[in-house]
Amino acid sequence: MTRAELKKIFDGKKEYLTKRGVLVKGFKLTTFTMFEDWFNLEIFEQGCHYCGLKNEECYRLFLLRPYATRNGKRGRRLELDRMSPLLEYDELHNIRWCCYWCNNAKSNFFSEAEFRPVAAEMGKALRKVLETEAAGQLGQLA
Ligand SMILES: [Zn+2]
Repeated sequence: MTRAELKKIFDGKKEYLTKRGVLVKGFKLTTFTMFEDWFNLEIFEQGCHYCGLKNEECYRLFLLRPYATRNGKRGRRLELDRMSPLLEYDELHNIRWCCYWCNNAKSNFFSEAEFRPVAAEMGKALRKVLETEAAGQLGQLA
């Protein structure tokens, strides 16, 4: 993870109002320095907090079906998730790395504990897609 990549992730998570006046939640008070202090490469490399999918696996899945992740706007890497959606993004102790698929499914509905069994199945299903794709590529070489 380069500093520029981390900055891009941070900038993409700032709170803003859409043209229609809808508030998109994100960092309000957190500075990039604070975010850098929070960032831990070892934790990032452990992958999705919920299903364990690694960042590079996210990218491989994204490449398989880029149209399927909000028209390619999301999914290419791990995202920032609020474990408890009741807390603000600025409460960094509540932020975890999360794959697009878990983030989407967990939404603001499930608590971490409630989502755990869903995440286990999500991880299995996503890895199955990767294995199937890898087998297909081997088949093409044969
Ligand atoms: Zn996940």
